[in-house]
Order: sequence, then C-alpha cells, then structure tokens
Amino acid sequence: MKTKKDVIILSRAREILKTARRIVIKVGTSTLAYAESGKLNLYRIEHLIREIADLHNAGKEIIFVSSGAIAAGMNKLGVDVKPDTIPENQALAAIGQGVLMHIYEKFFAEYGQTIGQVLLTKENAADEHARENSRNSLRAILDMGAIPVVNENDAVAVDEIKIGDNDNLSAIVAAMTEAEVLIILSDIDGLYDGNPKLDKNARLLDEVTEIDSEVERMAGGAGTKLGTGGMFTKIQAAKFATTNGVTMLIINGATVGNLRRALNGEAVGTIFPGKEIHHD
Ligand code: GLU
Repeated sequence: MKTKKDVIILSRAREILKTARRIVIKVGTSTLAYAESGKLNLYRIEHLIREIADLHNAGKEIIFVSSGAIAAGMNKLGVDVKPDTIPENQALAAIGQGVLMHIYEKFFAEYGQTIGQVLLTKENAADEHARENSRNSLRAILDMGAIPVVNENDAVAVDEIKIGDNDNLSAIVAAMTEAEVLIILSDIDGLYDGNPKLDKNARLLDEVTEIDSEVERMAGGAGTKLGTGGMFTKIQAAKFATTNGVTMLIINGATVGNLRRALNGEAVGTIFPGKEIHHD
C-alpha cells in the first residue's frame, strides 16, 4: 500500500491542499471535549477557530462542520450519561447547539469573522431539488464573506431522516458545495493498517487511492464514548467524497497547528485523493 511510487503520487495528491479555495473542515466531539470529563476543551476550540479565521483571511472559503451539540447540552445540564430516548437526546442537542454557537460566535468574533448556522438532515440532501436549496444557502453565506457552521438538525431529526454522523454529513456538504477538500479532524493521526491501540506495529497510511474491502477492514468499527463516528464512518465519508471529486484528509485534531501544516502540503494524516469527475 505504501510503495515508492505511492510516495511520488502522494506529494502530487497533496498539492490540492495548498491551492484549494473551498474547504470543508469537520471536527468531532472527541476533539472538542475532554475524554475524561466530557467538558468542552476550550483551549483546543480556541486554537482551531483561530486557524480557521486565519485561513479565511488568507482568502479560503471555509465551511465548518461541528459536532458536539449533545455533549455541550449534557455539560450544561450536568448530565453524565447519554440518555437512551430520542426526545431526551433531541432536547440535549437543542440546548447544546445554542451553547456551542455562543462559544463559536464569541471566538470567531474576536478575529473579526461572521458565522451562520446551518442545520441539516437527510431530507436536505435527498434529491437534486433539496440539494440545490441547501447549496444555495451555503453559497450565499460564503458569498457574504461569512463562515457556515453546519451540524445535523438533531433537535428534530429522528432515525428515518437522520444522516446519523457528521463524517458522512461533512462529505455530503463537501460534495454538494463542490468543495475541493474535506478535512476531518479526528482523535487519531489518520488511518492505520491495523489497530494502533492493540498492535504497536500498525503503520499510519499516507495515502489511500482505492477504498476496497481491505481498507474497510482496517477501519474496523471503533468509536469513542462521546463521538458517534470512529474510523468506519470516516471511510464511508471518504468513499462518498472521493467519488464526488472531493479530496479527503484525516488528521489529528489534538495537535495544535496540524491543520496549517496539512494545508501547507506537509505529510500529515491520511489523504484520500478525489476522483476526476467527467461531466457529459
Ligand atoms: N450531530 C451530533 C452532535 O452534534 C454529532 C454526530 C457525530 O458525532 O458525528 O452531537
């Protein structure tokens, strides 16, 4: 999977990271919150917002997909264990989404940035008409020089209309807005060829050009206590993104400065080069 030839392709695949104009950045709950307490990691959030604000200043169009609504709602109410019922989770998301936006509004405003909240469900991407409406809204926000902050509309979404995880949501958003790049900030350095928690010989993959059953096996099914995703949904997202012409990158969101390094074309994380799309 990692031959010398791949390394040559790798540097070419990473070129797009330096030149991309429209970038979707997705951050998961496990990056936004402390694993032990479940409380928001303000240090990390502040650094991330500063990096995004700076990218925006550099002329990039950024769409920020953020999880963390339910975790923020749990924090606010002092709830330790995620409830079982759908209405309780919907209520926590409703409470937490406001908390999250308040924090983002504050941090982004410190750097002179304007944000706009967009909450989506599967219905908003179900057919071309729905996608067009969502796309128009996101593009209008970008055209106004603001940064869309996207999450699933968890307060009303139930299983039938839910995308369910923000890895897939961010890939859908990247495809519908024709972003060149989707960057997923994770709590791990990228995709490994084994489980790095169990196997110390597991190697980080620089680049994955074909998502086959072998790659799916490597992704396993893991997730964390707070997050919904794990590597499995990231691979699903990579499949969708790359077939829609979007290059996807998984990097570790815990390392401050990683986003900037990745966009400078440095060998950070695992890249999944977007496929060329042929329009008839
Ligand atoms: N939309 C969920 C939230 O904000 C997160 C989904 C996910 O973890 O991918 O809590």
